[in-house]
Amino acid sequence: MGVYTTTDPVTGDQNAQYPEITDTELDDLIGRSTTAYRCWRTAPLERRRAVLTRAAEIHREQADELAKLLTLEMGKPIAQARGEVELVASIYQYYADHVDDFMADEPLDITGSGTAVVRTEPIGPLVGIMPWNYPFYQVARFAAPNIALGNTIIVKHARNCPQSALAIERVLTEAGLPAGVYLNAFISSAQVANAVADPRVQGVSLTGSEKAGSAVGEIAGRHMKKCVLELGGSDPFIVLADADVDAAAAAAVVGRLGNGGQACTASKRFLVEERVYDEFVRKFVDGMSGWQPGDPTSPETKLGPMASNSGAEELDELVQEAISHGAEVLLGGGRPEGAYYPPTVLTGVTREMRAFDEELFGPVAVVHRVGSLDEAIELANDSPFGLSSSVFTSSPEKADRVAAELETGMVWINSTSKSSPDLPFGGVKGSGVGRELARYGFNEFANKKLVRNP
Ligand code: NDP
Repeated sequence: MGVYTTTDPVTGDQNAQYPEITDTELDDLIGRSTTAYRCWRTAPLERRRAVLTRAAEIHREQADELAKLLTLEMGKPIAQARGEVELVASIYQYYADHVDDFMADEPLDITGSGTAVVRTEPIGPLVGIMPWNYPFYQVARFAAPNIALGNTIIVKHARNCPQSALAIERVLTEAGLPAGVYLNAFISSAQVANAVADPRVQGVSLTGSEKAGSAVGEIAGRHMKKCVLELGGSDPFIVLADADVDAAAAAAVVGRLGNGGQACTASKRFLVEERVYDEFVRKFVDGMSGWQPGDPTSPETKLGPMASNSGAEELDELVQEAISHGAEVLLGGGRPEGAYYPPTVLTGVTREMRAFDEELFGPVAVVHRVGSLDEAIELANDSPFGLSSSVFTSSPEKADRVAAELETGMVWINSTSKSSPDLPFGGVKGSGVGRELARYGFNEFANKKLVRNP
């Protein structure tokens, strides 16, 4: 039987282990979730609001302690870990503030006589499958709207973040969430498949790699379960000739290196118009070189280790393969030391190299020179992914055109991609299916029930 293990990415020390649960225990968990659903689905909105508000408050009260867990389990620099905890608090608060509005009946404007109303109701127990890059935030995106809606959830966390998982369950219990509404499950992929197939479970949400997403999506499809998939991205960051290059270069550094570069919406491919290419590259490389990796527990550190040695090694495989096929290294490019990987900038990356269209999940940027806006759009769309994107330009018309033509779920103008509870989050193409956050995320696992009285 497998284990969930906390491994400090700085030292490699394993400091806590939790065994996977048995199939019988999982069956019992699904049973508890189902029982809890019978009550929670009709819990007064006032009660849901109170729980969500208290969850937000506890996150703020315990921000230091919670942030330290993120730093310990996946090496997130402590200042960014505190930022994640604050974002999570804002998500719980957002759904507390909006649950009445989102649950309200929608009367339809119909041609016939009588009334027609769409009601918003929960659908039942759900399974969430979570990654390690934002252990609290990814869970909150799924948990907060569904707790507000009246669904119950069973969460399978990444196996390197068990203590973060336990902390989430504890906080929600302290916030007054009834037993069984939110349950952790330390389970294997095979057990995930059984849980999704279980007739008591009504839907599944996964954030992670395309491989995991297609495996879970296939199981969900076979059993006709609603599914939301938030997968990888290879977000383009377009810099047009009329852009404020200083602002673009500064944003590009944060967009690439925030969270150690381990974000689905990190800026990964920098497409820069000829006229400002040299200036942008000089300023970008200069900015990237200022983020040398350090101790993630220090408040000054901006770039820590990656979450694991294996993550650093996999990233390095893509970098070395590109270099061996002729890519030019403008910064970094050295081999990893444990989980530490240096900020790296590559140019001359061509279609034959894996780094051209695979996700670089770490502090590695690829810069392309483009001759025109058309070429920038074409190259931006030349990707299996379609998550988020950025364009830097002083022309509102050009920004509009880019926004209209990019095949992505999100477009940010003169900004890197950011997450906020009131903004929908999700992608197209290989980046997934469905949306999280805002009203859109709330509605994903809702039964939009028509009640017609002719
Ligand atoms: P995975 O996609 O493998 O893991 C994410 C979650 O999915 C984990 O809980 C994992 O469980 C689970 N999982 C994996 N395979 C299956 C399956 N067949 N059935 C059910 N659950 C499954 O991510 P990794 O941690 O391995 O990272 C690999 C790459 O994925 C990264 O380099 C990055 O490219 C991408 N990624 C993207 C993220 C994003 O935010 N979009 C987040 C994390 C990773 P277990 O740990 O038990 O395998």
